[in-house]
Amino acid sequence: MYFPRMSRKPYHVRRSKTGLGLFAAAPIEKGASIAEYSGPRISSAEAQRRERRTGSRYMFEINSRVTIDGSGRGNIGRYANHACGRAPNAESTLAKGKIILRAIKNIRPGDEITYDYGREYVELFLKTNGGCKCAACVKKRGKKPTLRERAAAKPRRGRRW
Ligand SMILES: [Zn+2]
Repeated sequence: MYFPRMSRKPYHVRRSKTGLGLFAAAPIEKGASIAEYSGPRISSAEAQRRERRTGSRYMFEINSRVTIDGSGRGNIGRYANHACGRAPNAESTLAKGKIILRAIKNIRPGDEITYDYGREYVELFLKTNGGCKCAACVKKRGKKPTLRERAAAKPRRGRRW
């Protein structure tokens, strides 16, 4: 007889403020595993090549030699967005060579599931993209206009010739 391991997944993927996001579909208890960050295990050298070639942002380094390429759409973990400081309600943990997203707070249905991607990601990808868009950072920046808004606000210069 076949028993599905989980009849209903505790999450779903839908639009968030910053693209797609992972949201709780049921209460998730603190400490519970939510989803795996899955994908082929490749060498970190190969990960760097792929990152350069495709611009992929889904490389998850396990250690200096092994990286998981989480670009595949079947990787549920890739839909969880980044958040800074005390804002995240999940964390990535390494268990038997697998990266598992685990709840670090009790999560209510409808809450977006976020975790801290780490300093390197923030430096590499977010600082060059108008800054981090997590709730904590947006609040910290307050009403200061983003680079794009500042650029749009600049008066248009006429042709010089
Ligand atoms: Zn942030």
